[in-house]
Amino acid sequence: MQDTHRNKGLRQKLVNELRTKGITDEQILNAFRDIPRHYFLDKTFADWAYKDVAFPIDADQTISQPYTVAIQTALLQVKKKDKILEIGTGSGFQACVLAYLGAKVYTIERQKKLFDKTEKFLHEIGFGSVRTLYGDGYEGSPRFAPFDKILLTAAADQIPDKLIQQLKPGGILVVPLGGGDVQKMLRITKKEDGTLSSESFGNYSFVPFLRGVQG
Ligand code: SAH
Repeated sequence: MQDTHRNKGLRQKLVNELRTKGITDEQILNAFRDIPRHYFLDKTFADWAYKDVAFPIDADQTISQPYTVAIQTALLQVKKKDKILEIGTGSGFQACVLAYLGAKVYTIERQKKLFDKTEKFLHEIGFGSVRTLYGDGYEGSPRFAPFDKILLTAAADQIPDKLIQQLKPGGILVVPLGGGDVQKMLRITKKEDGTLSSESFGNYSFVPFLRGVQG
């Protein structure tokens, strides 16, 4: 893996593009400036890494579009030391962005092959602090709950109760909600009294949140 001047230049362009699309949080923009996103794609497709598009990775899954990662991250209002559960590890890129912001990150993947690959890869690129879990995201992680924030990076047709239960009072859950091709990006806040409030932030398209694991 090599990070060239050209790669860095392309990253700066992507950062500028995200800025013109409305991403203003400097720390999030710094994550895109500093994390070599081309490491997360197959070498043959490295040139796609800095375009603002989603891209196929292993096991029929995708690495989310940079803008989508930036938006989901912004909606989470990440603070240093936040304990965050990500559902849908995929390439591991989103998990690295959260770790870059100083969060303590736990991430779950249901596909064993992808899980093994990404776990090893995160150690190789210096993001071994991200705690990778193999399992069904519908169950969350009772072992490490409760969390300050929970982020779903797959499309859910309903919000699993177990995830709400694993959220701390005052916690935030970001989820692309909807069963069809298009999902609404929701931010659910669990108030101190345990009731929920919900805000909606436009339409996105995600791969489905599937039940059970795939060995
Ligand atoms: N966050 C990823 C994008 C992942 S795409 C990234 O930054 O690259 C969504 C991922 O969610 C896929 O890898 C898919 O296998 C996974 N997924 C779908 N349903 C799941 C479930 N029930 N539990 C855990 N992971 C799931």
